[in-house]
Amino acid sequence: MGRRLLMLGPPGAGKGTQASRLGRAIGIPHISTGDMLRAAVDAGTELGLRAQAIMEAGELVPGDLVTAMVISRLNEADAECGYLLDGYPRNSAQADALEAAFGERALEKVLLLEAPADALVERLVKRGSEVGRSDDIEAVIRNRLVVYEEETAPLVEFYESRNMLGRVDGLGTMDEVFFRLVEVLAG
Ligand code: AMP
Repeated sequence: MGRRLLMLGPPGAGKGTQASRLGRAIGIPHISTGDMLRAAVDAGTELGLRAQAIMEAGELVPGDLVTAMVISRLNEADAECGYLLDGYPRNSAQADALEAAFGERALEKVLLLEAPADALVERLVKRGSEVGRSDDIEAVIRNRLVVYEEETAPLVEFYESRNMLGRVDGLGTMDEVFFRLVEVLAG
């Protein structure tokens, strides 16, 4: 069994970009719940219809829906050789659900991408104008940051207390951040 990793960090820290590159570099699937949910919205599936307005408000989609989606994805053949989760678990209830499904072996290391709040807002506003993600407008961005602090940030302490956390400075060029991640993974 290969590496079982989680990329954690606030919206705008660069999780998606770095996780996609890191997954390719190590040869494990990058599993992003945000990407999966956006695909469900685009495809107009039942899950997508339920998730759309919630995502556009920057709130969390109900955990049982996301957990079911993640469990079925992790049971696919390519995840047998490891995976890099991005965006899940996003709160302690989801962390418990992941562990209930796969036990402690569900995750082996957590990479925390850190960046100051003003840099996050600036990056997300820029992405909104370039990529056109409907939740990258300033009012929604601010709400996503609040939701991160309230729901997701407590996971930092949770994984730190289990000695699973590696902190990585998310400021700098894409290459600089990538090599920091590689270094933390090797250590
Ligand atoms: P992301 O691409 O990770 O920033 O996720 C975009 C949006 O998808 C979030 O703001 C949430 O509305 C939803 N989402 C992604 N992952 C989860 C999750 N694990 N639990 C609940 N909602 C999620």
